[in-house]
Amino acid sequence: MAKAKKLTKKDLAHFREVLEERREKITATVQESREEGIGFEREDLPDEVDLAATESDQAMRLMLRDRERVLLRKVEKALAKIDAETYGQCENCDDPIDIKRLEARPVTDLCILCKEEQEQMERSYAE
Ligand SMILES: [Zn+2]
Repeated sequence: MAKAKKLTKKDLAHFREVLEERREKITATVQESREEGIGFEREDLPDEVDLAATESDQAMRLMLRDRERVLLRKVEKALAKIDAETYGQCENCDDPIDIKRLEARPVTDLCILCKEEQEQMERSYAE
């Protein structure tokens, strides 16, 4: 298999744009969920389910926020790597990550081979 090409400055600029856009979107989502909450309105619910619903609504919001926070960290990390000019490089083997893979998952840290290896390992632990 041919090795993936290293990213050009133009590629890096493109991914910076993609990542910055994503960061903005995540920040906006977190802000929204904080201000409005997500899902149903509390007023629509009968009294007896009020408490439980409020709790699960809150749990859902926290979960979303957790997920967004993890994603946000990944985006920040990817942006830092663009600054350091190590973006698009596999963290495990240092090989360039295929640009198609980066297009699909701009926050990825691993090349496809290392990712598959990691997934295989995770699967074998889970069994
Ligand atoms: Zn690798």
